Amino acid sequence: MKSTNWVCNACYEPNLDTLNKCAKCKCPKGANGDVTQQFQNPDLYHSKKASKSLNTTLALIITSPILLLTAIHQGNLIFFALCLGSVISLLIINKPFLTVCAQSKWAINVLLLFVIFNFISFSLRLLFDDYLTDNNLFLIVVIDLVMYALFFAYIKYSQKGIQFLNDYKTKYQS
Ligand SMILES: [Zn+2]
Repeated sequence: MKSTNWVCNACYEPNLDTLNKCAKCKCPKGANGDVTQQFQNPDLYHSKKASKSLNTTLALIITSPILLLTAIHQGNLIFFALCLGSVISLLIINKPFLTVCAQSKWAINVLLLFVIFNFISFSLRLLFDDYLTDNNLFLIVVIDLVMYALFFAYIKYSQKGIQFLNDYKTKYQS
């Protein structure tokens, strides 16, 4: 008689107590959440992980002018150094991103466009800070949010954006 001592959390295969990994899918005994997903659908898991890392990197890059300008505005060089350090280290860690960007003029142009937009938009906000009414400020924030939404929608849904994301996922997994 086959004695079953634990059930795999990923594929529900009954396993013997002597095994530390599932005999069927190799998921570790007692694994849950993130680890289980990894064994249930590896492709989906890696694809999601790649998208998430790409979004973080993109968000950091396009908001970097805001961090930079805030640091300059407040005369806080330590803050500036920290921001710069985190952006650089993130880019160095994210080699797939650098590789894919290096091959895509489109990606570099889109990123530059939004970085410059953010730089100008936030510079104006700081420059005219004293003159801005609450209504004006609200309008600027709305415009910024719309631009963010457009940026991520463009990356996610445009033909070149989809190509970029796929290239990134391929590089990310290899
Ligand atoms: Zn299993």
